[in-house]
Amino acid sequence: MTKQQQRGDILATVKELSENRDRRARELKKEGMKIVGYFHCFVPLEILTAADILPYRMMGNPKEPLTVANTYIDPANCPYLKSCFDLAMKGGYDFLDGWTTPDSCDGMTNFDFVWSYNVRLPWRAWVNVPNCLYEESFEFFKEELAIFKLSVEKLIEANISDEDLHQAIDLHNEQRALLRRLYDFRKPDPPLVDGSEVLQVMKAVTSLPIAEGNELLKGVKEDIQINSPDIAGFNIGINVGKAAGQTIFHAHIHLIPRRDGDTLNPRGGVRGVIPNKMSY
Ligand code: SF4
Repeated sequence: MTKQQQRGDILATVKELSENRDRRARELKKEGMKIVGYFHCFVPLEILTAADILPYRMMGNPKEPLTVANTYIDPANCPYLKSCFDLAMKGGYDFLDGWTTPDSCDGMTNFDFVWSYNVRLPWRAWVNVPNCLYEESFEFFKEELAIFKLSVEKLIEANISDEDLHQAIDLHNEQRALLRRLYDFRKPDPPLVDGSEVLQVMKAVTSLPIAEGNELLKGVKEDIQINSPDIAGFNIGINVGKAAGQTIFHAHIHLIPRRDGDTLNPRGGVRGVIPNKMSY
């Protein structure tokens, strides 16, 4: 198989998942997993993951004509929210066990009433997010997170352990790091990945359990690195312990693509983590 074919394979998987975003969620629902839909990025997804719930980012469907939403929602309201509502009213989110949203904007606040009244899901949680950074804001948000956790525990009828929470936080932080790396690939001129591919990756990843999303992102990342024509070599490294720069505390390997001339003198490679040890 050629490199181009490999790239085609992973991007085909991403494209399929991005076009059929509910496929994996419906499969998992059949296996007994609970699925919670969410709007916007301030929702504490780590708590849902720790409870073994799939957080499913609701995105509506811009290709689906709005045939229901304008009857219920002010036509001037946000098209994204209207698309989600339209889809929900037509059964597009019938696999959800609940939904959650932060108080992110006025449109969302008004929409919350319409959605709650018409899209009857068994579970719902509203998350108040502070809009300023005072010491009291952190205390307030801590309480909000505790209320959210309690509500999730009622949904699963079990307690969420600290260990599960820490594992979930690590997984979500890993995903944030992988996404930052994906955006880094947009920075060279020309970019190593185009904007529509990144959008497809985002649509796919936010429909999957976090660990599956991370595996997909790693596949995409390696694929982009391997298929970049100007990459002339690699450094492979593992950070073990805080003193060695480790920030995500589970075993993982860094594959660092290198280009001719990317440093003045590359001799010594990974010895450069201690600057005066490089170049022997
Ligand atoms: S108007 Fe509100 S709900 Fe719509 S996209 Fe903007 S932030 Fe999101």
